[in-house]
Amino acid sequence: MTFPPLREELRGIEPYGAPQLDVPVQLNVNENPYGPSAACIADIAESAAQAAATLNRYPDREFVALREQLASYLSKDTPAGIVPEQVWAANGSNEVMLQLLQAFGGPGRTAVSFAPTYSMYPEYARDTNTRWVAGHRAEDFSLDLDAARDLVKTERPSVVLLPSPNNPTGTALPPEAVAVLCEATGEDGVVVVDEAYGEFRRTGVPSALELLATYRNLVVTRTMSKAFAGAGLRLGYLAADPAICDAIRVVRLPYHLSAVTQAVALAALRHADELLGKVDELRAERDALVDWLRAQQYDVADSDANYVLFGRFADRHAVWQGLLERGVLIRETGPDGWLRVSVGTPDEMAAFRAALTDVNGERA
Ligand code: PMP
Repeated sequence: MTFPPLREELRGIEPYGAPQLDVPVQLNVNENPYGPSAACIADIAESAAQAAATLNRYPDREFVALREQLASYLSKDTPAGIVPEQVWAANGSNEVMLQLLQAFGGPGRTAVSFAPTYSMYPEYARDTNTRWVAGHRAEDFSLDLDAARDLVKTERPSVVLLPSPNNPTGTALPPEAVAVLCEATGEDGVVVVDEAYGEFRRTGVPSALELLATYRNLVVTRTMSKAFAGAGLRLGYLAADPAICDAIRVVRLPYHLSAVTQAVALAALRHADELLGKVDELRAERDALVDWLRAQQYDVADSDANYVLFGRFADRHAVWQGLLERGVLIRETGPDGWLRVSVGTPDEMAAFRAALTDVNGERA
């Protein structure tokens, strides 16, 4: 027996995570490049101070005030509105999804998604002893709905994970796709539409929140890490039928959201307009980046997110490395030959374009 006595199937596995390198231009983990204003920082600090005065007590286990504010924020995206009983939250949407797998996956059960997709999904399945099945996306990274429906009918998953927009491709799901998969899955399973990047979707692309009133087995997850400019806060959440939220309460650890997290998230929500204020600029910067990359003859996936997948490179690692040597960190992820770059400030994008042009010149 080797020490430590790690579960057999975990031996030799590297922990997930993008390199955290201290370089001038960081375009590798899809953060919002704009930090909070002085007024927002002051409000957050004051709220954290108030929470600090209560730290001898456990926090509100049901985080009622936070659920109310998240429900009111989400209600903007669906005419039916969202009530607090439909909302659940945890430390990042990663934890929300792990809790979903803990509650609805498990031994003898199956989770399904469609590759290429977010690389944490198979890890949630592994960590909860859930069987993992990945179908495939079409050449343009959209879902072939007939094939997707067939896979769901054959595998009978208890969890279907559908990011919209998808990471790393940026592809949003049309509402018909969500509807087809909710119907095919039926009430023996839940369909999780991961809208971590939902706020960046292009005009006219609806949120799956609109379908919650129709499908009881639909879960829509969101996060404050991306558009909301709160990656350091660690606050993810979902909207679903209240019965789904109640089921998750069985597997969550007691007091999983600290008093500080709750207070800071509430303060950030009070400044939602400011924190989300750069989303339109980031979307415009994204569209300009897609156009520029296409003008340079790259293959570029359509993007509804704050990142762009582009290629194809015979040796993508060499290009990634060349950019890094020029102070620009992007992500070596997705199908072979492709790279993903996050959308940053205009200056950061100019640095990226210059570095890529330079790397290309050197390799020509
Ligand atoms: N879903 C997708 C598709 C993501 O890309 C990420 C983060 N990269 C997450 C969920 C999790 O984000 P967080 O835990 O910060 O909410």
